[in-house]
Amino acid sequence: MAQTSTAQPIPGATASPQGDWSYTQAQTTLMRAVKREGIGLHSGVTTTVILHPAEPGHGRCFVRSDLPGQPTVPASLAAVNPTMLSTELRQGEAAVRTVEHLLAALVGLGIDNVRIEITGPEVPLLDGSALGWVEALCQAGRQVQAELRPIAHLSQPVTVTHGDAFVAAFPAPALRLTYGIDFEVAAIGNQWFSWTSEADPFGPEGFATAVAPARTFGLAHQVDQLRASGLIQGGSLDNALVCGDEGWLNPPLRFENEPARHKMLDLMGDLSLLGSLPIAHIVAYKASHRLHGELAAALLPALVYGEGTL
Ligand SMILES: [Zn+2]
Repeated sequence: MAQTSTAQPIPGATASPQGDWSYTQAQTTLMRAVKREGIGLHSGVTTTVILHPAEPGHGRCFVRSDLPGQPTVPASLAAVNPTMLSTELRQGEAAVRTVEHLLAALVGLGIDNVRIEITGPEVPLLDGSALGWVEALCQAGRQVQAELRPIAHLSQPVTVTHGDAFVAAFPAPALRLTYGIDFEVAAIGNQWFSWTSEADPFGPEGFATAVAPARTFGLAHQVDQLRASGLIQGGSLDNALVCGDEGWLNPPLRFENEPARHKMLDLMGDLSLLGSLPIAHIVAYKASHRLHGELAAALLPALVYGEGTL
């Protein structure tokens, strides 16, 4: 499966990975806590996030440290409330929104157990990608734990559709994700990206290099309407790529197909709510967070659990 990673710097990032990031069938956590602060895309609220190590079997969960009793919100399918524009987790009165980029960074780098303390309702958007979270995780370091990671294979194909949009999962020998988008605006158009977990996470085709740096994007003509609906209050040309009829308002792009890569980042974050990503080829086309969530729910009865790696 994944090849051994060495501690090489991530292109565009300031931190080198600390700790053991090599191929492992064991569960992992962080070596130490790490903190980041920033504004939430939709709420516009600034929050502080502290990622803490957690014991084997704990999984990934959020703790709303600003609320009475510091309620926990598990990063699991049972707590998901997907919307078209972001993924929200809710348990009782406590909710955390726009969790997908942070969760994608955790699952993309194989961090199983982490307690995510957050001081408000929305995860910081940072630069619109998961690069800041990858840097934070590299700074915290990865600690290999004593217990094996439960991993699921797929017993049969599973498909969910909405109009001409779909997400389909097929049995496969390794995890592969393929994402297609199709926009009328010429600067985006039809673009595809395919990625496999067999790539070294810090190598040229790996998660940290090829997926994590892809930023959130939006269409200029939708910005005013979304703002008026109370959304994207924290969005700006500094943390989201915006595309107009004549082209991108804030180039340059980090990849020619940065939007398709970002959709894959969203898909990884949403599928991480299963606990770990299943061994399957998952193909998404014109999908949304809602459809990602529908696929994750539809996958559950078709997954066969064993122990292994990503
Ligand atoms: Zn996103």
